Amino acid sequence: MATTIHKKSIGFDTVEPAVTPPPPAPAGESTFVKKPKLGGSKSKKRDIPEGLWTKCPKCTTLIYDKDLDENLKVCPKCQHHFPIGARERINSLVETCSFEEIDAQMTSVDTLKFTGTATYTSKLEAYQKSTGLKDAVITGLGRIGAQKVALGVMDFSFLGGSMGSVVGEKLTRLIELGTDRGLPVIIISTSGGARMYEGMFSLMQMAKTSAALAYHAKAKLPYLSILTHPTTAGVMASYASLGDLILAEPGAMVGFAGPRVIKDTTQAELPPGFQTAEFLRDRGLIDAIIPRPEMKARLANYLDFLMQGRKQLSALG
Ligand SMILES: [Zn+2]
Repeated sequence: MATTIHKKSIGFDTVEPAVTPPPPAPAGESTFVKKPKLGGSKSKKRDIPEGLWTKCPKCTTLIYDKDLDENLKVCPKCQHHFPIGARERINSLVETCSFEEIDAQMTSVDTLKFTGTATYTSKLEAYQKSTGLKDAVITGLGRIGAQKVALGVMDFSFLGGSMGSVVGEKLTRLIELGTDRGLPVIIISTSGGARMYEGMFSLMQMAKTSAALAYHAKAKLPYLSILTHPTTAGVMASYASLGDLILAEPGAMVGFAGPRVIKDTTQAELPPGFQTAEFLRDRGLIDAIIPRPEMKARLANYLDFLMQGRKQLSALG
């Protein structure tokens, strides 16, 4: 945008632009405040110039991006939770330098040779480039407080956090590693569901991840599922809803099918707040809602409690 305006003009003089001027901003939007895309990875963040402000969609406050980053992408005024990238989230949770990523190079294969408006292969390449991620989840071992954990974090900016073979396989390997090493598993979900480009192979991941979690549970190890905005469809219908503890971020949209589909199918009026984390907590599906800045301390507490309980249990035989 800056390249189109002569330096001396600063928007006041009518200087002939060197290239085609940007299209006029839609009504109600200033051309000077460009909302950066949030939720991307670090490589994406580098593209955003310094000194930008972001308008909170809930309370319309303008927040300086640096302040927003420091507050883990939570509005300091109304606590609206903006999307956050998987790497930023991992950094906010684990102890410094304690995270070792596993299966970092695993990438999806276009088994079905799927073509819609674009081929699946070209979609994968485009998202890998724009997010700096190989697929929609990062998995690895890290430490939260004193407890080592197997941690998987999804990223919505990669194809809507959709679950294909790679997401399912990486999470399954993570859960199995957790079981082998006697570690708790934490999965932080954000997903639009199964990845349609992989058809049946995506749906198989629901069974695979659930089975791995069953073995993990059999070893009496805790699994904590954290639901973030939005967690829906095939992911919600498999590992995201299987936690010994199911936690959520404030205001997260959580559900299986969209409200319109449910309304059309049941022909019933949906109650207010339907499919929000708060609604589901009040009805017992979600155990607790935890603001992002408090998440690390709360997880450390839960892990401490659950793993001590496990020790006492095995001491009893
Ligand atoms: Zn706000």
